[in-house]
Amino acid sequence: MTSEFDLIRQHFTRATTHTDLAVGDDGALLRVAPGMQLVVSTDMLVAGTHFLPDADPADIGWKTAAVNISDMAAMAAQPRWITLALALPAAEVDWVARFAEGFAACCAAFNVDWIGGDTTRGPLNLCATVFGEVPVGRAVLRSGGSAGDDIWVSGQPGLAALGLQALLGQRELAGEARTSCLAALLRPQPRVALGLALRSVATAMLDVSDGLLGDLQHILERSGCGAQLEEVALPLAPVLAACGDAQAARDALLRGGDDYELLFCTPSTQRDTLQALSDKLALPLSRIGCLVEGEGIVLCRQDGSREALAGRGYDHFGKPGGN
Ligand code: ADP
Ligand code: MG
Repeated sequence: MTSEFDLIRQHFTRATTHTDLAVGDDGALLRVAPGMQLVVSTDMLVAGTHFLPDADPADIGWKTAAVNISDMAAMAAQPRWITLALALPAAEVDWVARFAEGFAACCAAFNVDWIGGDTTRGPLNLCATVFGEVPVGRAVLRSGGSAGDDIWVSGQPGLAALGLQALLGQRELAGEARTSCLAALLRPQPRVALGLALRSVATAMLDVSDGLLGDLQHILERSGCGAQLEEVALPLAPVLAACGDAQAARDALLRGGDDYELLFCTPSTQRDTLQALSDKLALPLSRIGCLVEGEGIVLCRQDGSREALAGRGYDHFGKPGGN
């Protein structure tokens, strides 16, 4: 029988590159550079809600780190440290080893030191807290948008939702389409480089975890604005366009969760900057509309018609059957 302490020593104790004291004592010691603010965020993943219980533990590990690191990107912060609190039904060493490999791989990919945590027995539950740095006053909040700003989204939202439908057997996906949708769902790539580059450019920003419209609504509420989206400008990924069901494709793009793309606003004077950034990062950036006076989200179609869209995203305590 492997003890809690064996698990910690063998699987959760990793080399660090910028930490004074990491796993092994009652607390970790971090040095925040002068002139920087510490940015802190926590995200929890629960079996059956955030991942399928039989998922590859390495993917679960990656995602546990990635969704946390994505919150640092959304603040325009440099992610630096992470802790992991986990409850495990039993000390299944193979599961833990693979989980820890995935978690550590994501940390390493973004130069984040894994500095501590807590390990206990209980229903499978994973909770990480990430710490990042941003120069004082330079974080990009949800509240800084104003009417006239452009609205942008990175990447191709909707792939993760399609991947989940494929895993649940609700949709046929094969070949490269299946591969790219499952990668988006299981191995999300936090947009750290983009977030950092937007520090001096974006007026408001967040990461899309609960669906583009629902998360846009958070910016609108905090910034006191409405939004006008252009249907023709929405980044409909080729695999979404090819899925043969226009309504499902639109739902995945606008309401699908789990993409971890960045949704942000910029003054319209920044369009060239954004184009150059997209080229530099080899990451599509789509200008999907603009902030307007008032409230709510309106979609403008090519034929000139307009449709009001409900900005509700996934809500764990929302009514069943809601968006
Ligand atoms: P304490 O009893 O003082 O709370 P623990 O026995 O829980 O300490 O943990 C011992 C050390 O192992 C601590 O440094 C803690 O941060 C680390 N640790 C425990 N669980 C994890 C984990 N899941 N990932 C990383 N470090 C962990
Ligand atoms: Mg202690």
